Amino acid sequence: MTGFNTQRIHAGYDPRQHANAANVPIYASAAFDMVTERQADGLASGEIDGFSYSRCGNPTIDVLEKRLAQLEGGIGAVAVATGMAAVSFALLAAAEMGGNIIAPTNLYGASVDALESFFPHFGVHSNFVKNINDLTEVEDAINDETKAIFAESVANPSTEVTDIEALAQVAHRHGIPLIVDNTFPTPYLFRPIEHGADIVVHSTTKGISGHGDALGGVVIDSGNFDWTNGKFPQFTEKDIVVSDERKGVWRSFSEAYGREAFVRRVRIKYVRTFGAVQSPFNAYLQLLGLDTLSEREDKAVSNAVKVAHHLESLPHVKQVYYSGLPDSDQHELVAKYFPKGVGTVLSFLLDGDESNIRKVVEGVKVFTYIPNVGDVRSMIVNPARVTHREVPAAYREANGVSDNLLRLSIGLEDAEDLIADLDQAIAGAFEE
Ligand SMILES: *Cc1c(COP(=O)(O)O)cnc(C)c1O
Repeated sequence: MTGFNTQRIHAGYDPRQHANAANVPIYASAAFDMVTERQADGLASGEIDGFSYSRCGNPTIDVLEKRLAQLEGGIGAVAVATGMAAVSFALLAAAEMGGNIIAPTNLYGASVDALESFFPHFGVHSNFVKNINDLTEVEDAINDETKAIFAESVANPSTEVTDIEALAQVAHRHGIPLIVDNTFPTPYLFRPIEHGADIVVHSTTKGISGHGDALGGVVIDSGNFDWTNGKFPQFTEKDIVVSDERKGVWRSFSEAYGREAFVRRVRIKYVRTFGAVQSPFNAYLQLLGLDTLSEREDKAVSNAVKVAHHLESLPHVKQVYYSGLPDSDQHELVAKYFPKGVGTVLSFLLDGDESNIRKVVEGVKVFTYIPNVGDVRSMIVNPARVTHREVPAAYREANGVSDNLLRLSIGLEDAEDLIADLDQAIAGAFEE
């Protein structure tokens, strides 16, 4: 076992298998020579791992998958085109035959929309709870049709943290998995599997890639959940793609892959069917991002803490939302789960009206007005109009996403310049 910083640079890659290239090469190849019929049979039936067609696997992406799986402490991973592909595939794979998913309303906007109004068209319904840390509310919401609990480790934009251990216990008592979107902290700040989560998803577009360059997502499997407990027939019914009709051998995903059944199904059914593969070029950029993940997170978290403290002292700032502040009512959970900090995103409530908000987002000079997080650049956005537009107003209000809220994603610039920029933009927004 090597440490996190060694893994983020070396895990999943053996240069000797890649012409001794020090850096992971980009395999820009749609398909691969199968050489022998025997190998072709093995690849097609999934009995041997290897590459035949890049929709089903690619050597550059394979390194990224192995590296992310190790960094999160999982047994396998599937990289996909975007974070939303990862969220969608993980949730649908768990609730594939219909059912409901329990989740809080403070999820990423597109995830709320998927659960609230899109997945129901496929027989997958949502069961939203007001407070995911209210275990009684969560447990009361579970019924025979519940297929998973889904939560974000750190919510956007409130930065509320989820009590993963407690939630995992509730889920497991009822034979359902806990699926965690761990995008905001990245595996450097938090590893949900160590606290009982079964499946972890990321938008690797954010802190993992870290440079605002490439879109990407990943589904990581802990290998710990028992998909054969009777609630998930998609894993126990015979499936032709993991069988050999020619030989009359019929298998289910669980029979074929055991503990890896979930992550294999995501790859072999979801990615192969819906086709949301990651490009090898993007995988290369994400690997480059991972090389410096720890240093970037440390610096950005330290900047975020300074900015949060400063905002608390500013006129016109009514409230700062950053669970990493010492006076946060989540202080205990943060101390338990996030010793290195809760992350690089924070938000604050401004006095005044929408015109003041507009003047701030248009008045910043170091910050950029961008609907993204986890970049080396610092960014500002008004969530109610942009990132949370598709979230129903009732949910926005319940989670403090008012028209006067501004979200910051803090990058690697000098903290003094970020602070001075916010000072001038906020002061400018209230000039007569
Ligand atoms: C950005 C984000 C997503 C979606 O990721 P994309 O790569 O943009 O598809 C999902 N969850 C969270 C928490 C995010 O921040």
